[in-house]
Amino acid sequence: MGMSRKVSIIGGGVIGLVTGLSLARSTAGSGTDYQIDIIEKGESVGSQSTAVAGYGIRTVYRHPINLYLAHKGLQFWSTLSETSATGFRRNGYLFLTNDDETSSTLQRERYRQISNGFPAEIRQPVDPGEFTTEEIDSYQTGLFSPISAVSNSTRTVDSIRHLCERNTVRIRTGEEVTAIEDEGTRCRVETTDSTEYSDTVINASGIWANEIAQLTGETLPVESSTRKLAVLDRTVDPEMPLVVDIDTGFYMLPGHNNTLYAGGHFHSKRADDSYGHLLKKYGSETYNRISDASVDEVRTGHYAMTPSRIPIIEQTGSIVHVCGFSGHGFMQAPGAASVVKRMILPGETNIINKELLSSDRTLSVTDIQF
Ligand SMILES: Cc1cc2nc3c(=O)[nH]c(=O)nc-3n(C[C@H](O)[C@H](O)[C@H](O)COP(=O)(O)OP(=O)(O)OC[C@H]3O[C@@H](n4cnc5c(N)ncnc54)[C@H](O)[C@@H]3O)c2cc1C
Repeated sequence: MGMSRKVSIIGGGVIGLVTGLSLARSTAGSGTDYQIDIIEKGESVGSQSTAVAGYGIRTVYRHPINLYLAHKGLQFWSTLSETSATGFRRNGYLFLTNDDETSSTLQRERYRQISNGFPAEIRQPVDPGEFTTEEIDSYQTGLFSPISAVSNSTRTVDSIRHLCERNTVRIRTGEEVTAIEDEGTRCRVETTDSTEYSDTVINASGIWANEIAQLTGETLPVESSTRKLAVLDRTVDPEMPLVVDIDTGFYMLPGHNNTLYAGGHFHSKRADDSYGHLLKKYGSETYNRISDASVDEVRTGHYAMTPSRIPIIEQTGSIVHVCGFSGHGFMQAPGAASVVKRMILPGETNIINKELLSSDRTLSVTDIQF
């Protein structure tokens, strides 16, 4: 009989799902019988941060790690869209500013993009009418990333879940991991339904990552930060790029059925200002027609933030933490899964300096949040 190994993934968000799929595909036919389980405390997978994501996939980052993860993400989501109706569209990202200093930053980001092999264009001034039929205000400077993309959240999660099941990943919903004991070569995992042993446990629990780490006495610098995304009652140009006003933080994109999705992290001194009110106030500086639209739904979710905005992917004993995606988990999931695979599967080689992904790293660069 061949060898057998068990991998338990805690969390059925996009990170857990894509990691499970990647491990299942890489280990099929390896001669070792891998059992890969995703344990999700919710009643369905993808029901937490993953359900709220705007599903933008961009290449504009500052740190080489995030650039690498973005590259992998674009490749994976684009390839998946050839066989699954995920709604992946290379609409591009358009970053806008009227601020002198931010204009200089965008110029530098353009050079960084090009030197990393990603196309990018600068316009000064910029008329967004060049990129979409929607009437968006002109700005002092615009950075356009033509290969960045948008996708559809529900369809994407459905596709990945389906692929996991086809590749014999066992998805266990409604089951919460309550205790973990790392015994060196294996882990004892207690859940609300069972006690079992796994060769590797992957902590892909999003904003709960630190709680899971604490079960084994570790601490991770991951904090939860609330973010909202609104669905408005109007349809927009399906080819509109994801538009970001860096000065206000407002962004908008064509969502499901080309409905307008818009968001941003706004601060108000008045506690009774609703999110819809703030969204329209700041959004109308970019897109005047948002004033006439009604907010059908406000989705509230959370970013799992690290101080540097760069995720943590580190192995301690039999546990691998994959967390802290700082609002970029959807686009970075395929790259993160590839790093995990290289960390834990025999015969694979690491291609990223492990120190840079560790929780106690010191990084000189904080990635841009827009
Ligand atoms: C408003 C908003 C917009 C966003 N837009 C984008 C975007 O455009 N592009 C992008 O790339 N990203 C975006 N993001 C970020 C993205 O949603 C997240 O980075 C990503 O979903 C994180 O995935 P995850 O699997 O780590 O977390 P989650 O989806 O939160 O999954 C973690 C799972 O772990 C489970 N869990 C926790 N503890 C346990 C336990 N003890 N036992 C079992 N299960 C457990 C939870 O139930 C949860 O389902 C956005 C986020 C928000 C909030």
